[in-house]
Amino acid sequence: MPAHDLDDIDIDAPIFDPAAFRLPERDAALIGEVRRFGRRTLAPRAAQHDRDASFPLETFRDMHRQGLLAICVPKDAGGAGAGFAAYCLAAAELGRFCGATALSWNMHVCSTLWTGALADDLPMSAAERAEHDRRRRLHYRRIVTDGALYSQPFSEGGAAAAGAAAFGTEAKPVDGGFVVNGKKIFASLSGAADYYGVLCTERAAGAAANRRNTLYLAVPAKAKGVTVVGDWDPLGMRATVSRTLMFNDVFVPEDEMLMPRGVYFRAASSWPHMFLTLSPTYLGLAQAAYDFTVSYLRGELPGTPPVKRRMFPTKQIAVAEMRIVLEQTKALWFQAVSEARANPSKEQVLRAYTAQFSVMENASALASKAIRSCGGQAMLKNLALERIFRDSRCGSLMLPWTAEICLDRLGRESLYEAGETDD
Ligand SMILES: Cc1cc2nc3c(=O)[nH]c(=O)nc-3n(C[C@H](O)[C@H](O)[C@H](O)COP(=O)(O)OP(=O)(O)OC[C@H]3O[C@@H](n4cnc5c(N)ncnc54)[C@H](O)[C@@H]3O)c2cc1C
Repeated sequence: MPAHDLDDIDIDAPIFDPAAFRLPERDAALIGEVRRFGRRTLAPRAAQHDRDASFPLETFRDMHRQGLLAICVPKDAGGAGAGFAAYCLAAAELGRFCGATALSWNMHVCSTLWTGALADDLPMSAAERAEHDRRRRLHYRRIVTDGALYSQPFSEGGAAAAGAAAFGTEAKPVDGGFVVNGKKIFASLSGAADYYGVLCTERAAGAAANRRNTLYLAVPAKAKGVTVVGDWDPLGMRATVSRTLMFNDVFVPEDEMLMPRGVYFRAASSWPHMFLTLSPTYLGLAQAAYDFTVSYLRGELPGTPPVKRRMFPTKQIAVAEMRIVLEQTKALWFQAVSEARANPSKEQVLRAYTAQFSVMENASALASKAIRSCGGQAMLKNLALERIFRDSRCGSLMLPWTAEICLDRLGRESLYEAGETDD
């Protein structure tokens, strides 16, 4: 690195200090690279994309050049081969600089993490595994070579994305593939992704819809019958551009299957931490709210007058309380992320719900307290805190593990063992 390259100077301490959290050296290096990329590339672009509710396509092109689109693509397919924990820690670092970009990146990366390291953990027959490996290499090649973007539109506005019903978007098996019909709401990367990683129900004529027949298909954005409709003017996470997708008799070739038949259903039931992948973005936002507050109260925030406010006891107490919540959240989340695996214990699953709930609710609470403690000038739109406040509020709404669903399950599963009733 040239000595004058200020952009590359490591000015933000890692959220998880590699020595303190005993990170493998390789993971620490990768996470550090992502953090520097976030500071250099995401931070200066975040405000404008938020204001315009526009997708940061140029950032994703930069991510391709940097190899970040392929962070979870296995090494033998040309990627960085990051596992679940390394990815989550890296995504948290991006969330500090632009929540919306980190969240969109998550949608893309999950298409590789779930088909990669996670699928390797799931039982498949030798034939299924060979077929899966052949197909995923096709997807990985598009990402590694062409910088293709994948997204993850699951939500439909009903109970399916919460895991309580079969997806209403359906795939009718036909010669050489499927014909897909349906609608997905809140589709981050709509209009920007090259492939929409759609969850749908495979349903032959006359058959009943069943969640076991969930298919995970990469629908080419350019395929005939795919349209993006509706506007997008939300409270937060504006740069995700999560508009509505319509699929009208879209033919999707069989090779676009991101997982073999039945494997998504198996993954959702035996690898539940896959749904924790929405939380890293919000952990990054929690850290950003805290960092902003410390810097502002010290009179060191770039772009603001060097007025110190740290000498007031109420400010000190607020920062102490923020630090306690942040450390609690980080410790719990790190533990939950470290426990991700196939067939986790009941305790591990309950801890994952607790971590998800804590990150999503605490990120929002920290941003709210940051505004109260920093004061009026800190909530003006020319500073990042106002955006962090709005973005952080969205975390609790994210299916399938919304804050309410986490509470529901934690209460019920803490009081009842599987199959237990009060009759
Ligand atoms: C910024 C942002 C980006 C997003 N990006 C994506 C994306 O890329 N892909 C994607 O798939 N989604 C995305 N989402 C959507 C998100 O995950 C939710 O699906 C969306 O917020 C649902 O809105 P809703 O009003 O339908 O939710 P809700 O009405 O809260 O829930 C939807 C349905 O789930 C069921 N449900 C709700 N609570 C429970 C419960 N406690 N127990 C059982 N069932 C329950 C109900 O049937 C309910 O109708 C995004 C959301 C935001 C805010």
